[in-house]
Amino acid sequence: MNFADSEVVGSILTGVGYVLCEAVEEADFVLINTCAIRDNAEQRVRHRVRELRAMQNRHANLRVGILGCMAERLQSRLMAEEDNVSFVCGPDAYRRLPDLLRQVREGQKAAEVELSTTETYADIEPVRLASNGISAYISIMRGCQNYCTYCVVPYTRGRERSRDPQTIVAEARTLFERGYREVTLLGQNVNSYRCGEVGFPELMAMVAELDPRLRVRFATSHPKDLSDELLQVMAQHENICRCIHLPVQSGSNRMLKAMNRKYTVEWYLDRVEAIRRAMPDCSITTDVIAGFCGETEEDHRQTLELFRKVRYDYAYMFKYSEREGTYAQRHLPDDIADEEKTRRLNEIIALQGEIALENNRQEVGREYEVLVEGESHRSKERLFGRNSQNKVLVFDKGDAVPGTYRRVRVDDCTAATLLGTLVG
Ligand code: SAH
Ligand code: SF4
Repeated sequence: MNFADSEVVGSILTGVGYVLCEAVEEADFVLINTCAIRDNAEQRVRHRVRELRAMQNRHANLRVGILGCMAERLQSRLMAEEDNVSFVCGPDAYRRLPDLLRQVREGQKAAEVELSTTETYADIEPVRLASNGISAYISIMRGCQNYCTYCVVPYTRGRERSRDPQTIVAEARTLFERGYREVTLLGQNVNSYRCGEVGFPELMAMVAELDPRLRVRFATSHPKDLSDELLQVMAQHENICRCIHLPVQSGSNRMLKAMNRKYTVEWYLDRVEAIRRAMPDCSITTDVIAGFCGETEEDHRQTLELFRKVRYDYAYMFKYSEREGTYAQRHLPDDIADEEKTRRLNEIIALQGEIALENNRQEVGREYEVLVEGESHRSKERLFGRNSQNKVLVFDKGDAVPGTYRRVRVDDCTAATLLGTLVG
């Protein structure tokens, strides 16, 4: 999501004459787009800001600004705490950036952190900053009002709002015409996308029907809203990728209630079954939090049990990190010791590693259509790409070129990667 936002910012600033530079030494402004979801994300940003201070001593004109959720959360406090930061700008205020930079050039400090109920940047065509020319993100909605008790997002990104579907389809069409072959539609809870008559399943169909050679992915689905209708639309369109990210957070009903997730383990497992019924080859991935307030050993055991049942292909696994202003911070004690959180997290990581490897072993011998993305990071002789399930395949180059679809047979695997041979 921050990638997508940075591309909007890039577009706004290049639109008024700013130029992107390759090396930080050449810059007059460094803008850091930030995440506030966990404390370690914020600490990394602070570390980076302090590194830039040394560079500012050598380049007197260099100004540092903080964008995004950390700017929204801390506002002017951030400029007081990190005195080499000249401006902060929240996620709904990016249109104000040209003005902000002007004030900063005139020697002032500046903050723009107003949240909006309507801003979607729908009319701004993002500059593709970090793009490989093959795969791009399209933001389809902003904000979140689910208020999971641990989560800072509703406070830093404001109310949920959906972007006009015509602008989304137009953006996808332009990308396809420029040679892109994959788009990922982004929102905190894409299932609740709605703009007039168009809900998320209709939007997915509209984008998928642009061209069968355009792959369509999406993230993230909140399990409480994952509908059969969406699964049907996916099953009917081969170019909608067979991969659903379905963050579970915990395998204990008691914890899910404390987290205000609004579903039970039984509901979640029913959704997993519905996915497998509609698309037996669909991969399922998740997010999980270890050591949330009041989590007992039994709750933790139930999370492990759920992982064994679902057998995820991939999981993002986190230790609970208390965030200021959330319901949990105000009402639920953060009572699991850090070492205990780490132990539980490591148990989940170890189990998930075994499951991912076992899942991948089952892939050996299968053939997949792979969208070739580029050279493998390990070897120039090999290429990598992804299958519809979003698994990475690495294979000998042969005559394959990035941006095309090729058939690859899986010969071997690790827990993270499938190793294969071009067969078509
Ligand atoms: N909107 C998405 C999640 C966005 S945040 C959803 O609801 O699925 C990405 C992930 O960060 C969450 O799924 C959760 O697992 C994790 N996360 C959020 N707040 C956290 C916190 N305070 N401590 C640890 N992990 C957290
Ligand atoms: Fe945070 Fe919950 Fe919203 Fe996801 S759905 S962004 S976890 S409040």
